[in-house]
Amino acid sequence: MLAPRSLPSSALLRTAVQAIKPSKQVAAPLASRSFTLWTRPTEKKKHWDAPPRPAIDASDMPLNPGPPPPENKIGVNAILKQNSESLDRHTTTIFSEFSLEGMTAVVTGGNRGLGLEMALAYVEAGAHVYVIDLPEEPCEEFRKVADHCHKLDRQIEYISADVTNKEEMNEAMPYILEHSGTNSLDICVACAGIMQTFPAIDYPIEEFRKVMEVNTMGVFITAQAAARVMYTQENVGGSIVLIGSMSGTVVNRDQQWVAYNTSKAAVLQMGRNLAAEWGPKNIRVNTVSPGYIRTNLVADQLDSDPEMLRRWSDANPLGRIGRPHELRGVMVWLASHASSFCNGADIIVTGGHTIW
Ligand code: NDP
Repeated sequence: MLAPRSLPSSALLRTAVQAIKPSKQVAAPLASRSFTLWTRPTEKKKHWDAPPRPAIDASDMPLNPGPPPPENKIGVNAILKQNSESLDRHTTTIFSEFSLEGMTAVVTGGNRGLGLEMALAYVEAGAHVYVIDLPEEPCEEFRKVADHCHKLDRQIEYISADVTNKEEMNEAMPYILEHSGTNSLDICVACAGIMQTFPAIDYPIEEFRKVMEVNTMGVFITAQAAARVMYTQENVGGSIVLIGSMSGTVVNRDQQWVAYNTSKAAVLQMGRNLAAEWGPKNIRVNTVSPGYIRTNLVADQLDSDPEMLRRWSDANPLGRIGRPHELRGVMVWLASHASSFCNGADIIVTGGHTIW
């Protein structure tokens, strides 16, 4: 065979063209298929202009939501099963699928910070909420939120207990079941957590243990105590959400948080294990991994270095840190029937911090 170099240039070109020419068997590209619009309007399209909304005064904000819809009223299947006479009735269920009406939720670490934000979201979604936190008495922030809830005729209660104390937690959960207005414990959020900074080389072992004790053992003790109560409920099931952190998946640049990050990585794996063991009992377990959000937990770090806020903000594509209320949607979704097939997942809420 001749070396290509010795062929005339036209022969070289021919060989190259032959090499890329499609064989006859290759199917023609789909480009020739024409586009058809199935939903051709048969009559003149009606336009509906929404009437201007009357301004709502904060004092007469509507109380919502209604009860969650029964499963047979949800989605495409419900439409297919609807009988033709009722087809005109336009009902939508999507928002009420997020309703927590008739459910009881417990949130640890809910005296302030992210836990309090979650507790309020659950109250607004219709749940009867119990908050568990360390101090004997709730702080001013909690009291204000509780006053607001009571004015709305919604229930939020405060229990002082330590999540690392199994006796206290195993007492608190049955108490909640017994006293809740719904006769059930449906939702448990293990949110209590602490944070420390030490260089790994000098990390005092007792301090490391303390972080693991609250952030990992405390989460397990909370989830176990709640699940024990949920196990006793017939036809109820439950949703347990463990608050992890993006620090369970990635290392925070320039932060000396080895104990915190280790404790959060353990929470993510714990969530998957509990999801596997309790799923057959219809108890779903998921984890939420927030990114940087200003609360007391990270206030010291932010305040100690004026550059810190910029560095944390630049670390995600949105260019800012999160706000506590930006967890409301995901927390209500995970607690509600709207997430009924979500189990063993880790939901990352970081503005995109972990994609780089
Ligand atoms: P906060 O410090 O504002 O709130 C934590 C709450 O947990 C406090 O009320 C604290 O009570 C309570 N707590 C601590 N130890 C115990 C205990 N042994 N028993 C009962 N309650 C306890 O922090 P955040 O709201 O920011 O944090 C909430 C969760 O979110 C934590 O698990 C944290 O790791 C996680 N997270 C937070 C992020 C952030 O940027 N803020 C990012 C990622 C995850 P007290 O004040 O009395 O100590």
